[in-house]
Amino acid sequence: MTQMALHTERLTKYYGDFLALHNLTLAVEPGEIYGFLGPNGAGKTTAIRTLMDEIRPSSGSATMLGLDTHRDSLAIRSFLGYLPADLALYPRLTGTQTLAFFAHLRGGVDQEYLQELTERFQAPLAKRVGEMSTGNRQKIGILQAFMNRPRLLIMDEPSAGLDPLMQRELQDLMREVAGAGTAIFLSSHTLSEVQRVADRVGIIRRGELVAEEAVATLNHGGIRQVDLVLTAVVSPDVFTDLPGVSNLQVNQTRVHLTFSGTMDELLAAVAPYAGIVDITTHEPDLEQIFLTYYAEPVLEA
Ligand code: ATP
Repeated sequence: MTQMALHTERLTKYYGDFLALHNLTLAVEPGEIYGFLGPNGAGKTTAIRTLMDEIRPSSGSATMLGLDTHRDSLAIRSFLGYLPADLALYPRLTGTQTLAFFAHLRGGVDQEYLQELTERFQAPLAKRVGEMSTGNRQKIGILQAFMNRPRLLIMDEPSAGLDPLMQRELQDLMREVAGAGTAIFLSSHTLSEVQRVADRVGIIRRGELVAEEAVATLNHGGIRQVDLVLTAVVSPDVFTDLPGVSNLQVNQTRVHLTFSGTMDELLAAVAPYAGIVDITTHEPDLEQIFLTYYAEPVLEA
């Protein structure tokens, strides 16, 4: 059996009486990118801080490459890259000095690789951190997370503050290191980022994992958004009677729906009642797919 890069077992965290994380059980394989998605306050940072042994879980446990995140936290640091949501940096140090400091903590890094990463992200390392823009400070966080070629990377909102070009660079880098076997646990509330980069996605709401699915399954599940313009007004029953239809909106001769069947089936259902003036279809984004797949659990959450 493959050893999991990250494995959590019923991780639970109370802040006083408040249940911030409830029975989180998940696993990430070597080379896999796991997108951990959830709205603000869902418990993503709590989960990550618990994994990082910054806060103690109320119950449950976690392992990284088979080592316990609490008992073996020092040994874990040797193969872990971590980008916290709020990385504390010394404002008076330059970027170069900051990275040298992080490298020292890790017992040295491959300077050539660090140089390559610096150029890729166009990080202005000669500047003092306190005088850098938010995005450039974020680049320092990214460089320190990747520079020791970790086997497991845990990142909390890594693209925060980055411009679209740099976000793309980060996505490319994530795919490259995952291709070389690094597991990545990526917390995000940016669906498009997760959709582009992750292999699997878990959705957390109010401290609970409410859905988990392979991104390829979601993207290629055959679900499409369809907009029709018809030659006549048609009863909504024509569509609701058809298996695979959801999110139906009818406005006179304009019809919008989400459909998991074939276009032939849709056109055959409409044909007895009206002609078609126009038809457009597009793939829905992850959020719409999730709402379609998991309508009930999400609504209940
Ligand atoms: P965001 O996307 O906004 O960063 P998140 O998913 O990371 O959100 P958390 O920061 O984990 O969410 O917070 C989960 C819940 O726990 C929130 O309701 C938050 O108010 C609460 N919480 C977080 N830290 C503490 C704390 N130290 N004491 C009490 N409550 C806390």
